[in-house]
Amino acid sequence: MSEVAQRLKEIQARVAAACARAGRPVESVTLVAVSKLKPAALIREAYEAGQRDFGENYAQELRDKAAELAGLEGLRWHSIGPLQTNKVKYVAKVAHAFHALDRLDVARELSKRRAEAPLPCYAEVNIGGEQSKSGLAPEALEPFLREVRALPGLRLEGLMALPPPTEDLEQARGHFRRLRELAREHGLSGLSMGTTHDFELAIEEGATLVRVGTAIFGERG
Ligand SMILES: *Cc1c(COP(=O)(O)O)cnc(C)c1O
Repeated sequence: MSEVAQRLKEIQARVAAACARAGRPVESVTLVAVSKLKPAALIREAYEAGQRDFGENYAQELRDKAAELAGLEGLRWHSIGPLQTNKVKYVAKVAHAFHALDRLDVARELSKRRAEAPLPCYAEVNIGGEQSKSGLAPEALEPFLREVRALPGLRLEGLMALPPPTEDLEQARGHFRRLRELAREHGLSGLSMGTTHDFELAIEEGATLVRVGTAIFGERG
């Protein structure tokens, strides 16, 4: 078994254990393997081990990998990084979902380019209130979501966050819980939250997608 396949198996087991602790069916959580900055060969290994959902941060890298791996049937690309309007075309073309929606100009551009098959989207929330971090302030969600919901070509699925790194598990749990409450307040069921560091906690707090990179593909250079 390849190293990636082995790590993937470990993570799947940890996802299943977290689901069991939370009394949730394991199918209620999608494991997105974050492959940014990692070569296509490793994605292929993970795919051969059964992984289908992959996360990429950079639009051009996504475009290039999607072209290179176009033969892998059923592979789903999740675009999880901040996006500029001039790169929207790459995402609109190949993405199964976009997780970092926090700008109306980007939403409008995506909408224009995805008229046929609506793009599932997650609005990003700056849950830790960090300066110079992407994502919307919780107070800004209401008007933003209203505009996004009116756009054809996009399907608003839920909220996403990348909370500030912390060793304090209760603090991390608090951020995830807050995101879950915000999603509920806004009538959304999707929750994209949790990374290598804290995905089990995120699952316990209701994550429907976890985005795990390092634990599957190793440290990024
Ligand atoms: C890189 C990244 C991840 C994965 O982080 P790991 O710590 O490698 O698991 C998840 N979400 C986003 C938005 C990222 O940029």
